[in-house]
Amino acid sequence: MGMRVLIVGGVAGGMSAATRLRRLDESAEIVVFERGPFVSFANCGLPYYIGGEIADREKLLVQSPERLRAAFNLDVRPLAEVAAIHKDKREVEVRNVSTGEMTVERYDHLLLSTGATAVVPRIPGVDRPGHFFLRTIPDMDRIDTWIRERHAKTAVVLGGGFIGLEAAEQLHRRGLSVTLVEKNPQVLGPLDPDMAALVQAEIRKNGVVLHLSNGAVEFQPPDETAAASVVQLTNGELIPADIVIIGIGVKPEVSLAKSAGLKLGATGGIAVDAHLRTSDPHIWAVGDAIEVAHFVTGKPSLIALAGPANRQGRIVADNIAGRSSEYKATMGTAIVRVFDLTAGCTGANEKLLKAANAKYQVVHLHPNSHAGYYPGAKPIAMKMLFDPESGSILGAQAVGADGVDKRIDVIATAMMGGLAVDELAQLELCYAPPFGSAKDPVNLAGMAAENVVHGDVELVQWHEVAGLIETGAVVLDVREPNERASGAIPGSIGIPLGELRGRLGELPKGTLILAHCASGQRSYNACRVLTQNGYQCRNLTGSFKTWKAVQDIILK
Ligand code: FAD
Repeated sequence: MGMRVLIVGGVAGGMSAATRLRRLDESAEIVVFERGPFVSFANCGLPYYIGGEIADREKLLVQSPERLRAAFNLDVRPLAEVAAIHKDKREVEVRNVSTGEMTVERYDHLLLSTGATAVVPRIPGVDRPGHFFLRTIPDMDRIDTWIRERHAKTAVVLGGGFIGLEAAEQLHRRGLSVTLVEKNPQVLGPLDPDMAALVQAEIRKNGVVLHLSNGAVEFQPPDETAAASVVQLTNGELIPADIVIIGIGVKPEVSLAKSAGLKLGATGGIAVDAHLRTSDPHIWAVGDAIEVAHFVTGKPSLIALAGPANRQGRIVADNIAGRSSEYKATMGTAIVRVFDLTAGCTGANEKLLKAANAKYQVVHLHPNSHAGYYPGAKPIAMKMLFDPESGSILGAQAVGADGVDKRIDVIATAMMGGLAVDELAQLELCYAPPFGSAKDPVNLAGMAAENVVHGDVELVQWHEVAGLIETGAVVLDVREPNERASGAIPGSIGIPLGELRGRLGELPKGTLILAHCASGQRSYNACRVLTQNGYQCRNLTGSFKTWKAVQDIILK
């Protein structure tokens, strides 16, 4: 008889561990307890069923207990909640969710993959009918039924994170008038405000009403205008809603671990070692429930994503099977589609680096998704953060209509491999006109950063411009007159790059010149001309495109 392994939670991390362990050990007895009615379901697909993009509900049910029994000899028990752990006896108490009956199960190894639970705001009226969270298949079914039966036409989505944005997009796709309410001044916390600004513009362009720096303070009772609630915002505005979706964040589901006396980390997630073992040698934990080290800052973090949960499940299975396997850290590589744009990120953002007092530099660039002369090329706004001395890549964000996933994935891979910006510049990536450029956007990001590390250029960020102008700096716009005609930084001097060498006399020596063009490439050339002629020049990274995109932030 082999060892007895019990797994709590039958979705991402839990099921990855169960199937991997079976592949490594035919003799182990593996029992998976899931308190919900479904195991191994595609929680990431739930928003797309609500919008109708995924039409077949069955497609979300990736596996069934019967199929898992047949293919992997797993004993998968849905509607079975693990209610308590007795570490000393190596036993758990299990409650049959349908009957309430309690049973006791013995284990040699116990894995907790209990996931996360939705944060419930303490707002009067929050638990009235017509208010939903979106975490499970039953949640999704309830939302779908409510919309159909109430003929819902208006929706309020609370929370502008990944799930809030996906829900807003999909409700809009289903024909509802959607209002998205976010308490912070930006959507998508993992992005910096200058990148989130592009997403915010896209949300508004598509007719979703977006409230930033504004939260719900009360859900007033439904009336003839609203089947769910009239939502009162911080600014006093009243928004009738036939349905309210609450997606203001998640917290690790640690109730079981906590009551068993397992150690929790500073963030409140279950503390684990590099092998993903908890403070008890026979208990392991993975996924949204655990605290991880951030790949860049090393700081304890909670990062709720499917990729890390799946990979951690595999690592624990290795360890239980006797292979030593370690989990290093989480980068937070993530992506979301918002209407016609995609936003992706990896590693640390500027907010995180600032808070960690880290030394960093930023490059913004706006390359095309593929060769500009080939039809269909779309601009990608990219931001990369790096250590200006060592050239280490610290993080990247990208927003665009095409090719965002590829660039973020390549940079994430480079970071994992410890490549520095000059090596990013040298990556040999596939190229033909429909797919990319001979200098891929990732190469360009590496080159732009490498120029800084080598001291070829000094950069200025959009938010530093106003302050530097106040201290006497001059803004030089090297775009063509027709480009300047469609908008310019107030007070800037216009000298096209092609005329710069002949008109150097028009620029003051001894004064800091902030050069810009549309995206930063021509103004980099201008800076090279100027510095080699004795001028003091900094290139506005991302140039006019970034500066223009953040106008709503600048104006605040
Ligand atoms: P889960 O997969 O959530 O599984 C935990 C399970 O444990 C739950 O089913 C729960 O019922 C069960 N459980 C908890 N306590 C007990 C107990 N005491 N007894 C028995 N069972 C218990 N991530 C991405 O990377 N990309 C995406 O696009 C994405 N989209 C998402 C969309 C939605 C709507 C949601 C809800 C999540 C999304 N995620 C996405 C997050 C991703 O699904 C999670 O990070 C991942 O599932 C975490 O895996 P886990 O095993 O830790 O927890």
